[in-house]
Amino acid sequence: MAEIRLERLRKEYGKTLAVNDITIKFPTSAVTCLLGPSGCGKTTLMRIIAGLEAPTSGEVYFDDVRVTDKTPQQRNIGMVFQYPVVYKGISVYHNLELPLIEDKLPEAERRKRIDDVAQILGLEHMLNKNVSSLDNATRQKVAVGRAVARQPQIILFDEPITNVDPNSRVQLKTALKRLSKQHNQTIIYVTHDQTEAMTLADEIALMKDGVIVQRDNPRSLYNYPNDVFGGWFLGNPGMNFVEYEVNGQSELGGPLFTRPIRFNNLNRDKHISVGIRPEHILVSPQPSAGAVRGQLTRKSIVVGGQYLLFIQIEGKMLKAKVPTSVGQAVAQEVWVECPLERVTLFGEQGTKIETELIPAQPVA
Ligand code: ATP
Repeated sequence: MAEIRLERLRKEYGKTLAVNDITIKFPTSAVTCLLGPSGCGKTTLMRIIAGLEAPTSGEVYFDDVRVTDKTPQQRNIGMVFQYPVVYKGISVYHNLELPLIEDKLPEAERRKRIDDVAQILGLEHMLNKNVSSLDNATRQKVAVGRAVARQPQIILFDEPITNVDPNSRVQLKTALKRLSKQHNQTIIYVTHDQTEAMTLADEIALMKDGVIVQRDNPRSLYNYPNDVFGGWFLGNPGMNFVEYEVNGQSELGGPLFTRPIRFNNLNRDKHISVGIRPEHILVSPQPSAGAVRGQLTRKSIVVGGQYLLFIQIEGKMLKAKVPTSVGQAVAQEVWVECPLERVTLFGEQGTKIETELIPAQPVA
């Protein structure tokens, strides 16, 4: 077991700040996905943890051991990259065995470990096959097996299943989760693909501009982003944001709500954004209490048969994802409700306002 701890880790490439003073712990026996758009610093952060890159400043600890100056070999980590590193011309078994021979393990132990990873990765029937004859997905499984069989405390993956077909992806993801639990390994997995992160991770560390914006389990990160960026980046499409000017009473009214909503404006923000995910908006062809009137400007069918509706309300555009039946039923005029428990408020700096939303009494 090895918890990874980063302290004020910073990496500058000339004028480019790739990693901006990151302090974080990555837990053991868990898969943590480093998720973020291209160029946000994921690979740089991972390479520093691996020892392939030296930080400009800051420290890396594995448990309580400072490893900042140690070489990759001294760190005892496994690494798997986007393009599988395997030896062609020899068998799967031999590929899996070579690192174990290097580690001077006795033959019986080597066989046990190879059988173990082969079973988890679904390679049992391919052990005698020559790697040159395998497709890319299977080669990647062999690369994963090579890293895992050594049973390092920490395994780092950099987009390892980008080039793998969907079925093998599911199998590899399941295998990675099992491995992290079975061997108490700390797995860090770099990806820019939110679906990958959502389905694989125990924890997601969401990155932007060299900073980890939020680290949380996938569900919490999705439902309760603590920053506008998380709302925007996650989801397909991302969260709706409607800008509001805040009045003296810290109340919000139209266009989204039929009556004023009170919130705790601790920072005295004058402008706030109201965030709500498209699938959390309730849409109906008929009026109802709590629903405001909108104009449907466009609708399209999305994956899973749901409908994506574009609805204009007092000049603001909202995207709503609704079930097929609702999508088929709505015409030009629609009624829209944003349930308060699904609404998140963000302040002027883009960070979440911790507050309850309470309907104010209707004005008599
Ligand atoms: P991607 O998903 O595209 O790989 P990333 O999130 O992994 O992106 P990094 O590759 O870590 O991001 O890059 C972070 C920033 O540092 C980028 O602006 C990149 O151009 C810069 N950078 C990375 N490596 C170097 C390098 N060796 N020399 C100069 N700049 C670099």
